[in-house]
Amino acid sequence: MSPQPAPADLPCLADPMATFPIRTFGDPVLRLETKPINEIDKAVHTLAQDMIETMYDAPGVGLAANQIGISRRIAVFDAQDELGPRVMINPEIVETAGEFEMEEGCLSVPGHWWEITRPAFARVKALDLDGNEVEYAGDGLLGRVLQHEVAHLDGGLLIDALPRRDRKKALKELRNENLGLT
Ligand SMILES: [Zn+2]
Repeated sequence: MSPQPAPADLPCLADPMATFPIRTFGDPVLRLETKPINEIDKAVHTLAQDMIETMYDAPGVGLAANQIGISRRIAVFDAQDELGPRVMINPEIVETAGEFEMEEGCLSVPGHWWEITRPAFARVKALDLDGNEVEYAGDGLLGRVLQHEVAHLDGGLLIDALPRRDRKKALKELRNENLGLT
């Protein structure tokens, strides 16, 4: 069955963009390695737009597709610099340098922040929505958000970057919270 075409003289009232619920700690999709994107078609463009909308709505500075339940290798970010919102498809970290401790939170682990040490600088190679190879590189918030989002796409979460003792404590907290024990 085909949908009835909308009358041509009426404006389309539907919001062309949509936001998705964000999957949280304990959802197994967050722990799966995402699959690369082979074809950047219209569906991928729509997904990227919806992910940007979802990220700003949260609000957040980065979002990986598996955080909305889509196990594909695409993430969006806005490191609050002149770049604005960016899309990275099939990103890979190709270089890191230094060390930097920063308070880090995650939309999938709401209400928690930890001081997390990661490399200060990161360089990522990816494809943009036109299929061009692009590079994003920097330190500060940009370096951090690049590493955080690529880790998501590998099935990682920020607590993985904590030292062992702190990670055990964080896991216990999160499990108790999920069980309604806190
Ligand atoms: Zn996150």
